[in-house]
Amino acid sequence: MDKGEEKIMDIVSNIKIEKSEGSKLPFLDFDNIQFGKEFSDHMFIADYKGGEWQNLKIVPYAPITLSPACAAIHYGQSVFEGMKAYKNESGEIFLFRPEENAKRINKSAARLCMPQIPEELFMEAVKQLVEIDSDWIPAIEGSSLYIRPYLFASEELLGVRPADEYKFIIFTAPVGGYYSEPVHVKIETEYSRACEGGVGFAKAAGNYAAALYPAKLGQEQGFRQLIWTDAKEHKYIEEAGTMNIMFHIGDTLITPNTDLETTLAGITRDSVLVLAKELGVKVEERRVSVDEVIEAAKNGALKDVFGTGTAATIAQISSITYNGVKYDLPAIESRTLSNEIAKELQDIKRGRAEDTHNWIYRI
Ligand SMILES: *Cc1c(COP(=O)(O)O)cnc(C)c1O
Repeated sequence: MDKGEEKIMDIVSNIKIEKSEGSKLPFLDFDNIQFGKEFSDHMFIADYKGGEWQNLKIVPYAPITLSPACAAIHYGQSVFEGMKAYKNESGEIFLFRPEENAKRINKSAARLCMPQIPEELFMEAVKQLVEIDSDWIPAIEGSSLYIRPYLFASEELLGVRPADEYKFIIFTAPVGGYYSEPVHVKIETEYSRACEGGVGFAKAAGNYAAALYPAKLGQEQGFRQLIWTDAKEHKYIEEAGTMNIMFHIGDTLITPNTDLETTLAGITRDSVLVLAKELGVKVEERRVSVDEVIEAAKNGALKDVFGTGTAATIAQISSITYNGVKYDLPAIESRTLSNEIAKELQDIKRGRAEDTHNWIYRI
């Protein structure tokens, strides 16, 4: 271990714990969980100041105090992650590929001139927080504990420059077994989510803010989500809402490549591609043109279209509208590949299927 690593291990081994007095858990109806409205008893907080991480603690979930001139609010230095903890029937607790979230928050942070969070710190904080609130993890099939780690500039600062002070916070929220209805989507040809050279690959708060208005217009026209296309020509597909998107055309599973940095590299996306290859399906990561998708929809080669992401794992798309023309997609029951992969992923996450890829992190 070098000096830096020793120091991090020292900091990480000193997470102070202040337990909440009286749990809110008795008030939670596990059969009727409202997503994003109910939060577990504790949260993790760490401060970045003077070039180092300090003051690591787990405290009761509660509002925090910030300066009105808090830099993140004004200039948007704010990035986040989304991950889940699962519990199986015997009470064992699992995380799915959490190291990938640790890596990705640092990629996002680097793009926004924010400090790196040592992976050991990220992992230990998630682990201890999930442990302390493990009774909040629903064991019901399909449900889980949503984990929200985020990093933002907390410095009192009105000048435009990278801030010197940050907070890294994690809180958790139980989520019920929600079934995601197949959605009608529209290919967006006016607004853009990301552009080359931009921040589309980062899980930056501002990306979400910028997408709200076009999404709202789409919803007013009856579309639950937008399919984002490239900012230059609106000819190539990038993502579906806040998910990655995949097309099963003929015998090939096709998805937009992530190396242009306009598409966020989802962990679900990567996992689905790995499983598809193992099922013997041809996989292509490349630019996907709107024209080829519409052509495939017209001639019947388009078997399946779905979004991938931590929230829903796989979200089926029932129709695509392009330039005012609606293309209905095959019935959900006929979509053998995505149904099979969704089941396989669920089995891995709940410890039922063999974890041949080392994706499971046991707590
Ligand atoms: C988080 C996110 C995804 C999905 O990533 P997962 O790691 O699979 O949850 C896809 N696209 C965008 C824009 C995202 O923010």
